[in-house]
Amino acid sequence: ISSVELTQLYLDRIARLNPELNAYVTLNPEASLAQARAADQCITKNEAPPLTGIPIAQKDIFCAKGWRTTCGSKMLENFVAPYDAHVIEQFNRAGAVNLGKTNMDEFAMGSSNETSYFGTVKNPWGTARVPGGSSGGTAAAVAARLCAAATGTDTGGSIRQPAALCGISGLKPTYGVCSRYGMIAFASSLDQAGPMGRSAEDLALMMNAMAGFDERDSTSLQREKEDYARDLNKPLSGLRIGLPKEFFAEGLGSDVAQAVEAAIAEYRKLGATVVDISLPNTRLSIPVYYVLAPAEASSNLSRFDGVRYGYRAPDYTDLTDMYEKTRAQGFGTEVKRRIMIGTYVLSHGYYDAYYIQAQRIRRLIAQDFTEAFKQCDVIMGPTSPSTAFKLGEKGDDPVQMYLSDIYTIAVNLAGLPGMSIPCGFGSNDMPVGLQIIGNYFDEARMLNAAHQYQ
Ligand code: GLN
Repeated sequence: ISSVELTQLYLDRIARLNPELNAYVTLNPEASLAQARAADQCITKNEAPPLTGIPIAQKDIFCAKGWRTTCGSKMLENFVAPYDAHVIEQFNRAGAVNLGKTNMDEFAMGSSNETSYFGTVKNPWGTARVPGGSSGGTAAAVAARLCAAATGTDTGGSIRQPAALCGISGLKPTYGVCSRYGMIAFASSLDQAGPMGRSAEDLALMMNAMAGFDERDSTSLQREKEDYARDLNKPLSGLRIGLPKEFFAEGLGSDVAQAVEAAIAEYRKLGATVVDISLPNTRLSIPVYYVLAPAEASSNLSRFDGVRYGYRAPDYTDLTDMYEKTRAQGFGTEVKRRIMIGTYVLSHGYYDAYYIQAQRIRRLIAQDFTEAFKQCDVIMGPTSPSTAFKLGEKGDDPVQMYLSDIYTIAVNLAGLPGMSIPCGFGSNDMPVGLQIIGNYFDEARMLNAAHQYQ
């Protein structure tokens, strides 16, 4: 099959299923097919890079030259990016075809894709349910086979939680492995791009394309190039799996617990050993995250002022009025809530009590993992406390929504790599995700563990 034929097959399927699922916000069939034609020529000339002709979807947080890039917000409804994010450049270099831009929570703030200005995304496994978020469009697109694989970003769980809820695989790499250049910033010290796909093997191939040093991101890490697929077929005998007792406590759905325990039993059969560990500061990760992430967001989002780019309110009297109206009309409720919290915790008189205190606890949370990895090679547990919930179910209770990230957030605070792979179904027949957390730069070992189970 040629890349043009493959791309056309996906485009036809998208035309048929996307009106219901709403996984894509922007398509550009001409641009996709032009890339596919170029890929087919590479193949005939025998100079094809590794992902030549493979149709990949991109989360709408990545700037892609000539493509509308909205970040799920009215603020950027008509913004066409004048340049490529580093991640997009990397996929272009690898020969991939950009199939389209996927829906997401506004500025990646959310766990259900319900904060998107472009409407909710439906979970392909049950369309009355959410796909998770913020990379919900990507997760739904992969699950419904509307692309071969796709990108996501993860600030507090936004790759792993939607992967779990949609029954696919997703990996958040070690902080600094993928460049944040051209990725619209939410909380810069936590944001990390990563792949979402059908299998660990696909994620490894995606990582080979995405990862790499980029001097335009000051936190990008200069490391030797690695092949993320190199250990996929290693046997698991001797692998030490740590099970944190805090991940199997109150708040975890019993159906999710059962599916995760069954997966751990499978790992024992594959030769792994299991050790009980503790991450004592787990319960502090949500309060710490909801001080630090909004603080960074309030600063990052100050650039959306109606002057430089994006939406500008049509009627105003003077500059201040223009700023106020633009931001009042351009941002949705959840984004405004975060900006207000962030501005508050950074303000004089509260900075020490909230922001500095949260930074201190962030360090303790990271130390918990350092201690734990003295006793085990990988940590496993649930990705999310429940399977996909109903659309609208948590809509008016932000704290309930924030709790869906209880098992994923600490990983971002520590800068560690984490992934989610499917491990069966819950009592409502919706998919359950198994989370695998690794030590810094241990992505290849995590992918090995995932691949052997799959
Ligand atoms: N759900 C979390 C939040 O709303 C995490 C989002 C993310 O990882 N981008 O902030």
